[in-house]
Formats: sequence, structure tokens, C-alpha cells
Amino acid sequence: MESALTARDRVGVQDFVLLENHTSEAAFMENLRKRFKENLIYTYIGSVLVSVNPYKDLEIYTKNHMERYRGVNFYEVSPHIYAVSDNSYRSMRTERKDQCILISGESGAGKTEASKKILQYYAVTCPASDQVETVKDRLLQSNPVLEAFGNAKTLRNDNSSRFGKYMDIQFDFKGAPVGGHILNYLLEKSRVVHQNHGERNFHIFYQLIEGAEEDLLRRLGLERNPQQYQYLVKGNCPKVSSINDRSDWKVVRKALSVVGFNEDEVEELLNIIASVLHLGNIQYGGEDSGNAYITTDTQIKYLARLLGVDGLVLKEALTHKKIIAKGEELKSPLNLEQAASARDALSKAVYGRTFTWLVNKINVSLAYRDETYKNASVIGLLDIYGFEVFQHNSFEQFCINYCNEKLQQLFIELTLKSEQDEYEAEGITWEPVQYFNNKIICDLVEEKFKGIISILDEECLRPGDASDITFLEKLENTVGGHAHLTTHKLADGKTRKVMGREEFRLLHYAGEVNYNVNGVCVRSNQLCFISSFAVVSLSLSGRFDEVLIRHQVKYLGLMENLRVRRAGFAYRRHYETFLQRYKSLCPETWPSWQGKLADGVSTLVKHLGYKPEEYKLGRSKIFIRFPKTLFATEDALET
Ligand code: ATP
Ligand code: MG
Repeated sequence: MESALTARDRVGVQDFVLLENHTSEAAFMENLRKRFKENLIYTYIGSVLVSVNPYKDLEIYTKNHMERYRGVNFYEVSPHIYAVSDNSYRSMRTERKDQCILISGESGAGKTEASKKILQYYAVTCPASDQVETVKDRLLQSNPVLEAFGNAKTLRNDNSSRFGKYMDIQFDFKGAPVGGHILNYLLEKSRVVHQNHGERNFHIFYQLIEGAEEDLLRRLGLERNPQQYQYLVKGNCPKVSSINDRSDWKVVRKALSVVGFNEDEVEELLNIIASVLHLGNIQYGGEDSGNAYITTDTQIKYLARLLGVDGLVLKEALTHKKIIAKGEELKSPLNLEQAASARDALSKAVYGRTFTWLVNKINVSLAYRDETYKNASVIGLLDIYGFEVFQHNSFEQFCINYCNEKLQQLFIELTLKSEQDEYEAEGITWEPVQYFNNKIICDLVEEKFKGIISILDEECLRPGDASDITFLEKLENTVGGHAHLTTHKLADGKTRKVMGREEFRLLHYAGEVNYNVNGVCVRSNQLCFISSFAVVSLSLSGRFDEVLIRHQVKYLGLMENLRVRRAGFAYRRHYETFLQRYKSLCPETWPSWQGKLADGVSTLVKHLGYKPEEYKLGRSKIFIRFPKTLFATEDALET
């Protein structure tokens, strides 16, 4: 049999707090690497689960695995997404406190897959009844629907979520799932009209074209060839080897009916999706005056029918803008470029609203109706992009990164607080922990009147010459001296070279990011944050990509989290569990200790030669300061 020592050497530690050198990034990486090599993709930092995407089926999500984690203490089994799911569930049940599982990581890291695994775990392990089965089905089937309309193939992930999602699962007093609610935010609407090379539009367009029955396509005026549609050719990527649009279409059609869409509503939905494709194919010609006119009448005909609007009115709307001046409505013609942007803006707005309508419909079907469920307990699942840093970062990245900045703040605060609470409950003196408080950056973004969002709001609402550049100027005048903000004008010679004139730079907790203000005055944001348990996923292509992983460890703030979690004691256990495991090492406690558990543990550790500075005895737990003390005890078990 392998000794504990060699096993640890081979598979590393299952909780980073047990790393001998917990401040070393190299040691952190080495532990991840060892575990990944052994197909152990999960590791804890206290109650945070770190997961590495294996990009292959590991056979660790079977019903047997679910059973293994059910009702079992966090530390008694190896780290798993089911352990986090089960722990949240039990805390919700026993402490009657709502829970939230926060999932963060870069694109392709495995966040959405993790959230589906959690949902499946509850669907299989929670109490059932006919009514509950319907809710479980709807919760599970909301995924294929949302993914069809909100996910797309990108360069980093063939099934990339292009929206953020917060889902509540509501449980009754028996612990059965009885309802749910979905909150969507930041849908990447720009994808409807443009895709980068090698990327696609949202899945639903291709599913419809490849999968729909002939007569449906005819009714919608569509052809079975994605290449025919301007909105589907930008990325030059109509087919993806890992995706079968035709069979996905069937899955989505079925899921739509499970989540409560009747035939008329489905038809209505598809009319709109087809309309977006027709809108994309509208082309313009230019009159001598420069005014745009529509050259594609067939598209107008289809659009008028599918959307139930008058063709002439539509034509007018796509070539003119309305201005209200001195109480009078005036129409002015658009030039070619303006008309094309008006068409694209309409497509984005139509798609965005349809997505919101879709989510609302799903919410109606997930809403619990029974009065007895009024006081349901809730587990929330937040599937959110991690920090995004590209060559060019726009308002979308600003919102996502601010969200992550805020989450980091909550994350550290909650870790500190739960540590402090536990010490207090156990009667152990709290030793203050020094940590980087990123409140200063959050304030810079969110503070009333002088935060970046306030300044932006003000500029957007100001009539007259407000523009992206005036926003930047205002930023310079209001928060120009801030230690975490730089603009081109304020930068020193060296920094200026790497900054564009239309950019501002934020020094986030995770590093510097330049944001381009182009178009920033015409967009808006919706944000959501909350946390309790967390799963952070790292992105991989089947092999251990050192650079990519190190980058994510940094941007997810994992080292800081580990430092806070390890500030006091690396390891803690209930007296009973500790005694049970190690009593054989001491003749006085073996085979069964008669007396108070605390006295038993005290006798045991004295016999083992623990020095007073190495441990503390709380009300119900022993706290061990260094991993080496614990490992020496573990190794003694083997000899
Ligand atoms: P995005 O931010 O782009 O939405 P994501 O973090 O949600 O990315 P997922 O879509 O969950 O990423 O995962 C990407 C792919 O990685 C999945 O389609 C699947 O192939 C693979 N994958 C993720 N998690 C696992 C897992 N636990 N086991 C095996 N493969 C996985
Ligand atoms: Mg996703």
C-alpha cells in the first residue's frame, strides 16, 4: 500500500490551506499540476472549490458519485462540485439561510458546465413528487433554451455564454425544489450583427436554418443555407465540428414546450428570429442627394408579414430619423451609413428584447404557485465571466471587470468574516489579518457623484455636445488624481506610449486594464453580485497550460484568498473526528476514550509532542496552525 507521504507527493494536497508554503505561487501551481495529472480536477481553498477543466469525460458525475456526496461532511470525501452543492443544500436546510454558489472563471473554464452539474445534483438527490418533477424538468430544460438564444461559438469556446446568469432555485420546507427564477444581464447584442473571424452568431439562427421543417422555413421565408444571410457570414464559420445544429434544434423545440411555450408562442418567437435575418439582408442604395433608399423589397415584404407591420412604415423607419423640435415631430432622411446603423440597431434591439421576453416566459413557468411555498429557501447560482483583458477593452469589459472587482471584495470580506465568526464561536482569540482592500477601486467606479459610473450617467443625460471624449475629459477633471486611474493626458511619457488617446486605464486588484471609451455614452449596464460559496474554474485544452493557468490564478485573486484563509490556522477538526482518526497513536485514548472529548484530544496531542504554539483547543474543535504538524501525525499513522 502507498504511504500517506508518497500519496501526498503524487497527488498533492486536496486543500490549498495545507500547502507548506502557502504564499508561493509556484507551490500553488505545482499542487494543481500534480492533481491534474492524476485527473483530480478539484481542489479546495477552505470553502472555495478550484476546478480545472479536463476537456474530457471523467466519469465522476454518475448517480453513484451523487450518492457518495449526499449528507457527507465536506472534508470526509475528496473535493467535488457535488460536495459544494450538498454543503450549500444542508446549510440552507439546517441553518434556514439562503445560499449562493458563485461560479467564476475565464471563457471556456467550465462555469456553465459546473452550474448544470449542480442543478443535476439537486434534481437527482432532492425529495420528489409529481409537482416537483415538473419543476425539476423545467429548471433543467431552461438551459438548452437559454443556450440556444444566448450562447455562441467563439474562438475560445464552442458553446460560450454571451450573457451573465443568476438563477435562484427555490426549495420548500421539505427541501424539494418547487420553483426558480432567472436573472439575465449583459447579453452581447453586438453579436447579432457582427461576429469576429472564426466565430458565429447565436446558436438559434443556425439551428433554425439547419433543423426546421420545410414548411416552417417556407412560412418564415428562409432558405436552408446560412451563407445566404449577412448576419451569419461575418465570421466565415457556418459549421462547427463539435456542434450538430440539426439535432440541437430538436432538443430546443422540445425544451421550449417543457418550459411552457405553446405552439403560437413558439411561432411568434421564430417569426422574430427570422425577421432579424431578413433585416440583416436589407440593402441600401444612395440617391444623388446622399439619402439612403431600400433596394431589397422582398425582405420588406417578409418583415411586414412576420412582424405584422405596414411595409411602407417599416421602409420609412429604416431610412429616416424622427426628431422632436419645439414640440413638433420632424423627419429627416438618413445617409447610407446612418441607415445601415439604424437597421443594425433595430436588429440588436429586437433580439435583446426577445431574449428578455424569453427569460420572463421561463420565469413564469418556474414561478411556484402554491401559497404554502411562500417562505421558500433559496440557493442561487451565479454564472459570471471572470476578469476579461483583451487587446481592446470596451464598455462590456469595464462592466464585467467591475463586477469581478466587487466580487473579489465580497469574497475576501466573507472569507474573513467566516473565519472571524468561527474563531469567536470556538472562543479563540482573533488575530487581525492584513490584506489588500480593493474598496478604493470599487469606490472609484461606483461612488455617487464622483465615481466613473456617475460621471458617465451625467454625461449621457446631458443635452448638447456630450460625447465619448467629453466623458473622458470629465473623468480627468473629476478623478484625474486617483491612484488607480490614468488617462492618456495624465500618463507619463512611458505609459502614454502604450495608451490610446480614447482610453482610460484602471489599476484593478488583478492588474492594469485599458478601456476604450468609443461608444461608451450610448450603452447601459445591469449588474448583479452576491456570494457565499464559490467555485472558480480554470481554462485548459486537455493539457496543463502553465501560462494560461497562472494568469487565471492571478485574475481570480486565488493567492490573496488563500493568504486570508491561512492567516491563522491551516487545519481544524471537530474533536470527535480528530480523536476517531488519530486515537490509535496514543495508548491512553485507544481503543476508546472515556471522558470529555476535549480532554481526549488534549491527551492525544500532548502524547504526540505538539508544542503549545502549534495548536489551540476551541469549544468543539482543534485548530492546528501549520500543515507540517498535521502531516507528521498523518505519517505516524502509516508507520
Ligand atoms: P463561457 O464563459 O465562454 O461561457 P464557460 O466557463 O461557461 O465559458 P463551459 O461552456 O462550461 O465554459 O465549458 C466549455 C467546455 O469545456 C464544455 O463545452 C465542455 O466541453 C468542457 N468542460 C467543461 N467542464 C467540464 C468538465 N467538468 N468535464 C469535462 N469537460 C468539461
Ligand atoms: Mg458559459
